[in-house]
This record gives sequence, structure tokens and C-alpha cells, in this order.
Amino acid sequence: TESLLTITDLSIDSLRDGTRRRIVEGFNLSVRAGEIYGLVGESGSGKSISMMASVGLAAQGLDVRSGTVNFGTRRFAASDQKSLRGNLSHGVSLLFQNAKGALNPFITVGKQVERVLRRRRRSDIQGELKELFRVVGLNYADLGRKYPHQVSGGQAQRVAMACALATEPALLIADEPTTALDVTTEREMLRFLASICRQRNMAVVLIAHNLSLVSEYCSSLSILHAGQVVETGNLAPIFAEPLHPYTQGLIAAVPDVDSPRELVPLIGSVWGGSSELDRCRFSHRCPHAMPRCERRIPPAVKRDGREVHCVLYEQEVSA
Ligand code: SF4
Ligand code: MG
Repeated sequence: TESLLTITDLSIDSLRDGTRRRIVEGFNLSVRAGEIYGLVGESGSGKSISMMASVGLAAQGLDVRSGTVNFGTRRFAASDQKSLRGNLSHGVSLLFQNAKGALNPFITVGKQVERVLRRRRRSDIQGELKELFRVVGLNYADLGRKYPHQVSGGQAQRVAMACALATEPALLIADEPTTALDVTTEREMLRFLASICRQRNMAVVLIAHNLSLVSEYCSSLSILHAGQVVETGNLAPIFAEPLHPYTQGLIAAVPDVDSPRELVPLIGSVWGGSSELDRCRFSHRCPHAMPRCERRIPPAVKRDGREVHCVLYEQEVSA
């Protein structure tokens, strides 16, 4: 099937404190209907910023310098945040971590979902509401009249999911939606997200820093480091044989697929001390770094059904 959302060459600068900093560079992503796409990286690598900017929700102080976004059959300049926002708001829903904190504490969970539903539906709101609760694995009769503080974290996250689904989005951006949940609830949520994604033929971008989770639920992924995609493609070949040294480090750090836990961060910070950005931004952490890596940003090399950005895979280059 065709891609629903395609982000091409997105670059974002930060303009805080009067200084321009290049924070995301050449970001690409393409997700199809019915697919869960994993976007993985340590915190500070630019995952959320990239996805928010691509739906027109770049935070203040950010300058979207370049990039295009294709959504369905339409095409937008990423710098035109206003038109992105206006055109994508009906087709895209967002889901964040800590739903409990995001829900209005003074309104019952049933009413919160109902309010979202009312924006789209005119008839049989009550029927639809009960159905939505059922879809997210909650019983409306038991929970509908409860306030957010009266439900568990997992239930609150499902209520947030019901709100997200109430608009019947073509795309759901789930930004570390299970980070605040215990491991069992987390798995339940993701299994269930996967089944909804199939049933509704909805596209999902799952932002995560836990690679073992992504490995279970996503068919494709992009790995981001310091604002650059380092490797992207189908999950199976990347896991079978990670090419980028950063991906290799991440996969080696995945403890055991049956006991998922936080990713062990590699040594060194994401960005490193260097202010020079026209380099491989992993060079300060890379065991294979050589002078060539510092001369420019490594271009994408296509190999074994994926793209990798590392000089180790370049054809002979003239230095
Ligand atoms: Fe390491 Fe160089 Fe490849 Fe970057 S380009 S990952 S520093 S070998
Ligand atoms: Mg984030």
C-alpha cells in the first residue's frame, strides 16, 4: 500500500537565547496505513521534536528550516506550520505518556471521551461512547462516571487512547505512551494498540527509547541519534545485522526480549562536547571513528533493504 505520511529532509533549528543551533537534520520517515513505525533514540535525540514539527506543532523557539510533508495525496512545506496544523488536525491524533496528568481532573473520564466524540458525531453519541470504551478494553458502566484520580494509570492511558481514537484518525502519533506504566500494562497497551491499528487500518508512529518494545510491535523503524537518522528500514534485517555502530550498540544493549527494560545508554552524551555539527554526530562515541567521519555528515547508503548513514559503508570516496 501507499505511504500515508512521508516526511522528507526535515531540518529544524533552535533559536533559544539568541543562538541558532541545528538540532534535527535531514529527517525522513514514511509510514503506511495499518503499519506501526518505530522511531527510536535516546532522550534528546529529536524524536518528539521531529514528529511534532511534521504535523505543524513545532514548539516556540524552533525554526523549521526545510522539509516536506506528504499526508495522503497532499503535500506541505514543513516550514508552513500553520497550514500543516490546519490540514492535519482532522487526520492525526496524538497520545503522550502520563495520560493521567493530561486528563482534566474535574471531568469524569466518560465525559472527556464524549466531548471529543461530539466534535465529529451527531447521532448515537452514547452508543458510540460505549463502543469506544469497549474497543480500548474498558467497561463504560464501571468507569464512565469516574474521575481521573479514581482510575489506574493503565486505565487513564486507555481513556486517553479512546479520546485519540474518537476522531477516527488516519494516523496516531504515540509519544512514549507507555513510559509511565509497569511492564505488564505496557505490553497489554501495545498489543492492543497493534490490534486497533490492524482493525482500523490506522498508521501509527511509535516513539520509543526502548528498542525491545519496538522490536515486538513495529515492522519498520528509524533510529535517531543527535538529530540525525543513523539507520532506517525494515525491522528484521536491522535486528539480524545492524550496520550502524550506534544501532549495533543499542541492539547489544537490549538485555533479553523476554524481560524488557530501559535501554542501557551508551557511554557519552548524545551530542558530545563538539560544537562542530557537520560530522557524523556519533563520532565522539564511536569505536570505529576515523578522521573522515569528522569531515562531513555521512550520506545515506542503501544496503540490504535499508539506509545507513556511516562512512564504513560508503563506496570508495575521495577524501
Ligand atoms: Fe562511526 Fe564514522 Fe560511522 Fe560515524 S561515520 S558511525 S564515527 S564509523
Ligand atoms: Mg520526547
